[in-house]
Amino acid sequence: MNAYGDIIGQAGVKDHLRKAVLRGRVSHAYVFGGAEGMGKAGLARAFAKTLQCLAGKDEPCGVCASCRAFDGGNHPDVFYVGLAGKKSIGVNDVREKIVREMETRPYSYRYKVFIVDGAETMTPEAQNALLKTIEEPASYGVFLLLSANPALLLPTVRSRCILLKLTPILPTEAESLLLSKGVPAERAAFLAAYAQGNPGLALRLAESEDFTELRDETLAEAEKIHGLDCAEALSRFPAFEKYRDRIGEVLDILLLFYRDALVDSEARGKNGAPGLVVRKADCSPMQPGLVVRKADCSPIQPGLVVRKADCSPMQPGLVVRKADCSPMQPGLVVRKADCSPMHPGPVVRKADCSPIPARPTARELLTKFYAVLDAKRALAANANFQMAVEVMLMRLSREPA
Ligand SMILES: [Zn+2]
Repeated sequence: MNAYGDIIGQAGVKDHLRKAVLRGRVSHAYVFGGAEGMGKAGLARAFAKTLQCLAGKDEPCGVCASCRAFDGGNHPDVFYVGLAGKKSIGVNDVREKIVREMETRPYSYRYKVFIVDGAETMTPEAQNALLKTIEEPASYGVFLLLSANPALLLPTVRSRCILLKLTPILPTEAESLLLSKGVPAERAAFLAAYAQGNPGLALRLAESEDFTELRDETLAEAEKIHGLDCAEALSRFPAFEKYRDRIGEVLDILLLFYRDALVDSEARGKNGAPGLVVRKADCSPMQPGLVVRKADCSPIQPGLVVRKADCSPMQPGLVVRKADCSPMQPGLVVRKADCSPMHPGPVVRKADCSPIPARPTARELLTKFYAVLDAKRALAANANFQMAVEVMLMRLSREPA
């Protein structure tokens, strides 16, 4: 509890903090910089606990009076300052909770440690009040400022602090974390990629039913749009307007989808796989038989590559649905247990005679990826919502033959 081992990744920051203690070179002020969920608070707590630990090692012993008081949440010489429901940390908060407290020596332990969460929300007056304390610190004062955006701190404050920047953890680390919490493998892989190295975000999303629904709807929409012409694609606008408040998440899901599809298509290219797609053969009466062709329209041969139902990266255990990803209906359902070539036989039945869109090429995927990225950037720059989404939809639609 409250130990470095609780935090995934961040080897560099942990190493720095450990060495500072071992070498007796603990600074008076640190900024822990990183997005919500990266582990700033966990690291700061482990460091504060170590500083006060009576064992005097580079990590907390966990059993001394100080460690027990810390874990019990009633350590007399560790102080927490945060937003507590407000939008900013004001000058009075800093004066009462930090400046005044610093006038007296620690009650029982070596330091007085102040953990300031949301430090960038301190008003300039509050930062200036803190600055005076940091500039001429009593020997026992240690300030741990946690910030999602250290650039928002006054330069005068920043320059007095050691900046410890948290770095994204590896996708494999995030995936292991999710698997250890019982998240199913396929979902863990997606969330680990989506969270982009933020373990807290990955965990939060894993617990969110909401997000799963959003992801499924978004991916279904992406599949649908690929087969539509420009005008039809524009008519999908309401599906995006519905999630106007969560458009950032929607676009991130799309970016990940196209990125994975690109990686997948590159991998297929490198392996020399022909890039087969399922197509309807003709409109003759339904009968069992193959309707598979290569993308390049070379002679039909038995063999089949189909996409996974959820469009996440290919892995053994493929489940296949209709090539156009519309809701499952009787007919045109194919299954294959792995990616090995399929021998002629039990495969496809025709359901109807509508055209099935071919799998997008790498170039198309790249175009689509940038369509989403551009929309994301435009919206971040406060572009008109409808215009940004409509431009994206046009670029996501089927290219004219
Ligand atoms: Zn201890």
